Parts: sequence; C-alpha cells; structure tokens
Amino acid sequence: MSELSLKSVRKTFGALEVIKGVDLEIEKGEFTVFVGPSGCGKSTLLRMIAGLEDISSGDLEISGQRMNETDPSKRGIAMVFQSYALYPHLTVRQNMGFALRFAGVPKAEIEKQVMDAARILELEKLLDRKPKALSGGQRQRVAIGRAIVRHPKVFLFDEPLSNLDAELRVHMRVEIAKLHKKLGATVVYVTHDQVEAMTLADKIVVLRDGRIEQVGSPLQLYTDPDNRFVAGFIGSPK
Ligand code: ADP
Ligand code: MG
Repeated sequence: MSELSLKSVRKTFGALEVIKGVDLEIEKGEFTVFVGPSGCGKSTLLRMIAGLEDISSGDLEISGQRMNETDPSKRGIAMVFQSYALYPHLTVRQNMGFALRFAGVPKAEIEKQVMDAARILELEKLLDRKPKALSGGQRQRVAIGRAIVRHPKVFLFDEPLSNLDAELRVHMRVEIAKLHKKLGATVVYVTHDQVEAMTLADKIVVLRDGRIEQVGSPLQLYTDPDNRFVAGFIGSPK
C-alpha cells in the first residue's frame, strides 16, 4: 500500500481548471520532488494534499484512507513553507512547540519533542532566541523543527530554500538529505531548482499545465526523457 495516493485529482478555481487529472503513488520513505514551470500547479497540488485547498474531484488517500474531507491537522501531514512563517514574538522553543501546545499535549512531552527535534537540527543553543536573531538558514531549520515535533507521516516542502542565498541553499540541501535519511520520512518537495531535484529525489514528477508529464528516477529522466519538455527541465537533450 502506498503512503500517499492521488487518484484522478482535479482542481478548479471558478471556470479555471488548474489541476487536470493527476494520478500518483508515493511509497513510504520515498523522497518525491515536483518540478515544472511557474503556474503549472505544484503549490496547488501540495496544498490539496495538506488540506489547505479542497479537492474538486478525485481522491486523496493517506495510508489507504480517503482523506479528501479530513481536517488538515488530522491527516498526519506537516508542511514547511518558503516564507518560514515563524511567530516573531515567540522564541525558537515556543515556535517549535506551538502546534503541540495548541493540540493540548502535556508540557513535559512538548519539551521532550522540542529537545529531540532541536538535537536533530542542531538548534539546541538557539532555543531561547527570537526569530529576528537568527540567520535565514537557522530560521528554515526552526520551520522544519516545527514540522518534526508533530511526527508527521508525510512532510511537504514548498520551495523551502528559494529565499536563501546560493551557498546556504547548498548547505541546507545537504541538511535536508541527511534529515530524510535520519527520519526515514516520506517527503514531497517542490522546487524549480534542477540541481535540488536531481540530488534529493528518489522520484521526480515533472508537471506541466496541471498534468503529470513524466515520473521517474533522476537517472531515468536524465537519460531517457519522454520529450523535449522533460529534457529541458531535467535531462540531456533528445
Ligand atoms: P506553481 O506552484 O506551480 O507555480 P500554483 O499551484 O501556485 O503554481 O498555481 C497554479 C495555477 O492556479 C496558476 O495559474 C495560478 O494562478 C492558479 N491559482 C492558484 N491559486 C489560485 C486561487 N486561489 N484562485 C485562482 N487561481 C489560483
Ligand atoms: Mg508554487
């Protein structure tokens, strides 16, 4: 059974159809990367998985259970945004524990989860700082920490590194790869950075205008793209 399954998923905004029938199976522990031009529907697809957008038709299943109408907080999913979205008036510790506190988890348990995540992300020394006293990369790690403490089945990342400078992006890419290994988590990751896609992905999904153009391993897409469009994104010219 797949961890995440999309069946004929469509999304319309008014008269505009932006996701035009997507079928996709994602296995437990797999690192899947969505690539495609701006406006092709990557964020919309991720937001539907997270429950931040309704699914117009089709089915979303997580661990075999239909989740179309399930509350976002009950899907076993955590999303990490490009803009970090940290609370400026809260410390790192409070930011990381916020969702758990909101869910009524006991204080001692929150402290344990936050410490575990801080250790994984090497944030132990920064727990009492506010976001404005952190670098971009540190803020991004806090944003990831907020997701980790919830022990989601699936992590969703929407262009998490695109606000960082080139050097930090490379560093964080390595960190995310390590994190994936450490946690054995299922990850769906959106990027328009080809190098990120090639180095992080077990499986790359190439999207074009609301549809899947091709799915394959980085090597498959690189050596055997179905068409020029895929080649333009990933592969060598065909
Ligand atoms: P990507 O993340 O690949 O750049 P998006 O998923 O953000 O693309 O957008 C896909 C398409 O859906 C775009 O044409 C965008 O303008 C449209 N869209 C996204 N959100 C909305 C919305 N809330 N209302 C109307 N159109 C939207
Ligand atoms: Mg987007």
